[in-house]
Amino acid sequence: MNTQRQSRLLSLPAELQQAIYVLCIPDRIHICLQQGKLQWFTCALAVSDEEYLDGSERNPGEGAQSEPLWARRLASSWGSHWNCEEIAYTRPHGGGDPLLSLLLVCKEMFFGIKDAISGNTIVALTDLETLGFLAKRSKETQTHNRDQNFSIMPNLLPRVVELNITLWLPLANLRSLEEQENSSLATESTNMWQQLHSMLACFKHLQMLHLWLDHDDPCFWHTMNERAILSTFISERAPDCKISLSLPKLHPWYEDPHRHYLNDADLPATVHLQRRMRQWHFGRNDAQGLPVLEFKADFPILLGLPDMEGFDKKRTEAIERGMWESGEDVERTMMRWSGIVCEYTDI
Ligand SMILES: [Zn+2]
Repeated sequence: MNTQRQSRLLSLPAELQQAIYVLCIPDRIHICLQQGKLQWFTCALAVSDEEYLDGSERNPGEGAQSEPLWARRLASSWGSHWNCEEIAYTRPHGGGDPLLSLLLVCKEMFFGIKDAISGNTIVALTDLETLGFLAKRSKETQTHNRDQNFSIMPNLLPRVVELNITLWLPLANLRSLEEQENSSLATESTNMWQQLHSMLACFKHLQMLHLWLDHDDPCFWHTMNERAILSTFISERAPDCKISLSLPKLHPWYEDPHRHYLNDADLPATVHLQRRMRQWHFGRNDAQGLPVLEFKADFPILLGLPDMEGFDKKRTEAIERGMWESGEDVERTMMRWSGIVCEYTDI
């Protein structure tokens, strides 16, 4: 017997209820492990175009605590989702998310919203440990055939069609992936990377994977061997779903077709490559635990000139690329003009 006949929402036809739920749910939710438990909440990423973000957008501005806070934001392992990390660790324990409140209204809304999320919401992950945990839980659920009717994760994961993985990994981990034959460098994290394709099997209906990758060191991205790090995963995954690959921009002088992907033609047809400017500002704690801010400008460095403020960034990048390709040392020119030091030869 339906005990909720007085609810106008629940009295509507199922299709209308679904249409309303789709309007209420977020475009993207995070899933992460906190103290060994899976948590999920609405993604707060506001910037859709992150092609030219250098880290200054994370500066909280003037104030006594601004420097430590900026340093912490710059060092966020959640990369472009640094703001979501702050929300995740400051929200009220076990709640505070409007989506969770909706799910807890009643059993009927739980199932309706769960269905709406499955096909319309992007799931965002920011570490491999959470993905490993989800893969393990998924296997256990299948093996033991547990009744998971009121658990959101086992119901949601197999039906997710779009997944966003943001990985801001320690530099040493990516270096060890470049040298996979050297097993002494393998860590738990690098082993998980090598299992990335198999772990994604818990998303049975995945159609689109967004993979955002970087390392946590000021060291220039062009020193990385992208092909050694990514080629195995791409060849395993690309036949099953589309991949949008977001990597830092390469310096024109150091592009190497044997180490780097130069354009989509270097990749399977289902993979689309996007390049974004790498952050110029970095944060860390020194030996005394005090926050330290570091600055290291990367291509396109002309964007750092005060005179270029207000210029079209894409056009400025194209101009700089042309300067490098014609043999002009733009770094030296920049140092003459502004004193900005980039040290492109420093590995
Ligand atoms: Zn987010």
